[in-house]
Amino acid sequence: MAILPAAKRLKIVYKSSSEAGAVTRKLTLVKKKNFVAPIDKRECKTCLNTFDLTRENFGSTPNGNFRWQCRSCMRNHVKNYSKQNPNAAKNRSELRKEREGCARPVDDATKNYLLKKYQNQCAYCGVVLSSKFHIDHIHPIAKNGNNSIKNLAVCCAKCNLAKHAKTAEEFYAWMEHRKIKYRLPKLI
Ligand SMILES: [Zn+2]
Ligand SMILES: [Zn+2]
Repeated sequence: MAILPAAKRLKIVYKSSSEAGAVTRKLTLVKKKNFVAPIDKRECKTCLNTFDLTRENFGSTPNGNFRWQCRSCMRNHVKNYSKQNPNAAKNRSELRKEREGCARPVDDATKNYLLKKYQNQCAYCGVVLSSKFHIDHIHPIAKNGNNSIKNLAVCCAKCNLAKHAKTAEEFYAWMEHRKIKYRLPKLI
């Protein structure tokens, strides 16, 4: 079991030392080349329009990938489906309420503790946090993560939205894949 120092802080365990090594090498590469992430394109399989592959244009699948349908096609699809299946919409909203109930609000003491722990930096990309920081479940509630303080991190809005229901490990892999630059925060 090889554990990267940064991964250790977020309790990420890599399967092998070569895997951890590959991540470190990639990280150095990203730092060296000063990459600007290219924006991928995707053709919506329903309307066949091509959009930038961003969250604004494509929603997220349950495991955090981009959908193959653009947001507006997805909206139409959900609208039509809900019309035909009124109970399905009800069940969905109930399920959502249930999930949100699990993510109880975080009190100020916890927020302050986390800000101190991460030294006011985003837990994922290392950017200095503004007053509009988000609290993230490192292991998402949607994947049975819990509310323990160990599972909480402060992060920037951008990372929180991009991470969505990914685990920290999946999110780093996702950033690596998209060549998104990030800096791991120093913990105290
Ligand atoms: Zn479309
Ligand atoms: Zn961030």
